[in-house]
Amino acid sequence: MIEPRRILIIEDSMLMRNLLTGLLDSAGYGDVHTAATLEQGFTALGLRGQTGEQYNLILMDKLLPDGDGIEAIRQIREHAHLSEKPIIMVTGLEDRETLRQAFDAGATDFINKSFSETELLARVRSALRLDAAIEASKAREADLRRLTRELEKLSYTDGLTKITNRRGFDAALERIWNECLDAKMPISLMMLDVDHFKKYNDSLGHQQGDECLKIIASTLEQSVNSNNETHMVARYGGEEFAAIFRADNHKAQYIAEKLRLSIEKLELPHPTSSSGQHVSISVGIATMQPNTQNNSTQLISNADHALYQAKNTGRNRVVVSVLEIV
Ligand code: GH3
Ligand code: MG
Ligand code: MG
Ligand code: MG
Repeated sequence: MIEPRRILIIEDSMLMRNLLTGLLDSAGYGDVHTAATLEQGFTALGLRGQTGEQYNLILMDKLLPDGDGIEAIRQIREHAHLSEKPIIMVTGLEDRETLRQAFDAGATDFINKSFSETELLARVRSALRLDAAIEASKAREADLRRLTRELEKLSYTDGLTKITNRRGFDAALERIWNECLDAKMPISLMMLDVDHFKKYNDSLGHQQGDECLKIIASTLEQSVNSNNETHMVARYGGEEFAAIFRADNHKAQYIAEKLRLSIEKLELPHPTSSSGQHVSISVGIATMQPNTQNNSTQLISNADHALYQAKNTGRNRVVVSVLEIV
């Protein structure tokens, strides 16, 4: 049983068209189409503006009333979706020069018009096998690309909270730092830490702690996404999160306050916190103008320092680093 494969014959001689169609048809290739001119052939292939059909093989005559078959092959090859399609040149001329020109133009194979049925079918079969192999390899490549993208995404995703992980954060920080360096724009970094989270675990259990982290992560991510200046939020590690955005420290402070409030408003009960009845976060912000003398490690350590101050001055608050303000 032959797989249904679509063949296009571009041939001006009706006799030849009927002979080819008849032979292919009786060999089981039912889906054979014909074009009597190049114009008709190009239209069928979709090279004339409209959407054409997909073919698995083209049989191309050399001499046609409206052009040369070899030149036509060259034109067909310029279209990405046809660049590897098997094309068999069918002609009565068999001089070396014609052959060379046909292969140079991109013909896959060549058959003389005085072919035998066996020869024709053998060449058609092998061209179609080539087409099937190319299609299969393209499908495998597409699968591989999709898989690679999925894996890449997975390697940047935190398993528990499903937001960007530390690895994704590191990559984003480097990228955004360099963008801000080029654009001469300030970059702000926030370190956000859940207050008294050890006590939360101790009183409600680790599983409840995990659930709490998931809620905090998705709340932060939603708040970040609803804010145009903010770029991304990630789980930095444990009960710490980090957010990066292209903004000066005033904007950063405003956004950080919104993030802090978004957690406060959840009113997640925290039975043993000494800084309130609900789960809260403390936020440290640092802003820098990237230049050739500084680096993102300083930005992280400045934000850390600000976070430390937020913790020491009562928690559930935002502190802006005074170490380097733009
Ligand atoms: P502070 O307000 O000073 O930040 O106090 P804290 O208790 O939050 O800080 P500390 O660093 O002492 O404790 C952090 C806690 O976070 C301890 C650790 O068990 C918990 N934690 C870190 N990662 C996870 C996690 O993935 N799941 C759960 N349930 N707990 C976690
Ligand atoms: Mg002809
Ligand atoms: Mg911590
Ligand atoms: Mg903490």
